[in-house]
Amino acid sequence: MRIEVRPEVCVGAGQCVLTAGRFFDQGEDDGLVVLRRTEPGPAETAEVREAADRCPAGAITLREP
Ligand code: SF4
Repeated sequence: MRIEVRPEVCVGAGQCVLTAGRFFDQGEDDGLVVLRRTEPGPAETAEVREAADRCPAGAITLREP
């Protein structure tokens, strides 16, 4: 799995950071999503999926191999 984010549609809700802070952060100035890591391991995919589901803006896309 590979994570992609679209800061241009992010609304800065922070749900991704609360759910999977190892992968997502928010910019200090604008609060928009910043990707910290792109490829979760097998034990981490569930939290990344949850973060994507909780994003109110659809800013997180998960690419399956
Ligand atoms: S949950 Fe979605 S809208 Fe909120 S900060 Fe993360 S990417 Fe942006």
